[in-house]
Amino acid sequence: MSRDINNKFWDEELETLPREELEKRQLADLQEIVKFAYENSPYYKRSFDEAGVKPEDIKTLKDIQKFPFINKKTQRDTQGVGSFLGELAAVPEEDVVFISTSSGSTGVPTMSPFTKKDFDEFQDTESRWFWQIGMRPNDRYVHALNFSLYVGGPDVIGAQNLGALCIWGGTLPSERLLFVLKTYQPTVIWTSPSYAWQLGEKALKSGIDPKKDLNIKKIIVAGELGGSIDATRKAIEDIWGAEVYDFYGLSDIFGACAAMCEAKDGLHIAENHILVETIDIHTGEILEPGQVGELVFTTLRKHARPLIRFRTGDIGRIDNTKCSCGRTHGRIHILGRKDDMFIVSAVNVFPSDIEAVIREHNGITGEYLIRIFERDFTNKYAVEIEKNADNPKSDDEVAAEVTAALKARIGVKPARVVVHPDGGLDTRSEHKSRRVIDERTLDYSI
Ligand SMILES: [Zn+2]
Repeated sequence: MSRDINNKFWDEELETLPREELEKRQLADLQEIVKFAYENSPYYKRSFDEAGVKPEDIKTLKDIQKFPFINKKTQRDTQGVGSFLGELAAVPEEDVVFISTSSGSTGVPTMSPFTKKDFDEFQDTESRWFWQIGMRPNDRYVHALNFSLYVGGPDVIGAQNLGALCIWGGTLPSERLLFVLKTYQPTVIWTSPSYAWQLGEKALKSGIDPKKDLNIKKIIVAGELGGSIDATRKAIEDIWGAEVYDFYGLSDIFGACAAMCEAKDGLHIAENHILVETIDIHTGEILEPGQVGELVFTTLRKHARPLIRFRTGDIGRIDNTKCSCGRTHGRIHILGRKDDMFIVSAVNVFPSDIEAVIREHNGITGEYLIRIFERDFTNKYAVEIEKNADNPKSDDEVAAEVTAALKARIGVKPARVVVHPDGGLDTRSEHKSRRVIDERTLDYSI
């Protein structure tokens, strides 16, 4: 397939569909997938019957609101029940060509099956995101994501289908990866934001200046929130002299369901595949576009295991206004995981808010660790940071500055800020870092 490399769109007609036309397509696909799920998935048959709803009830997109929610627990409770693929699946095993599993970071790993058509459409969506950030067939691309079981691994096929020269990097040790970057001079890489930052620092420490000695022009980040935090994205861009784009994926759907464009103002979501709702995290009440709540996705075209009203556990908002890039598909702004959010003095605090403060503060390394704990049955948080070796200020002065910055940004100040020397925090793990430690003993699940 040859495309005009100067055309900014991978699929111009689809990406610029007038909203009305896009919603018309969504409705047709929604009606089809709800009927397919009802007729082929034992779980949906039972749950729709119990809720007293039928596929024919879907006459407008809003009618999806009559249908029951599902969540991670639904997946866990139904997988392996009745058949290998479980009760949520809507196709027989012989139609399935690929399964990925979640990392299990919040419990038992869940399996996501794909038919051949599901998988091909997944990869076409990934090609579209790569094209959207400017990747073209003359790019050399390193896919530095885990290939084992992880849904992000196969995204490399989307880059290959686009025509880029692909290097299946996986989770190589840093020294080997830097060797690849130096020797093959790739132009695009995808990894996690914390690792992109640490790899840049490691390069500098080993005498490689990413800006001069390497040829990376674009960095895709996903798996953690950093790419949507302006200060973190800029910190990575400064080290590499490259543009950073945030992608957002769900192991239950695609490696990337949404991606930034050149405007870097939220992430375009593939609305031809996913119908997005935002709901109040406590009451389940439907919110209007622009309001912050839990994102709920309905997959419109995945037949192996349709997800109808899946509560993602991610907090964010949707913006359906037209983007300056010309694409009409809505954009999502992700604030964090519902599970990561904690409440201090009636204020919702996301670790990403704390990260933004730490990353833009001068005189500290940007590494941090958050501890959430209780005192007198009240939530408190503490932040540990590292002072730069050349910072002449005392630890107390640095702690006071950071405390004030956190109070100004978040509204509630930390119980304490602990200052370590450069390298004093053990948070520089390869590829994905653990930065929040919850020491609370009471049950805060919502
Ligand atoms: Zn855009």
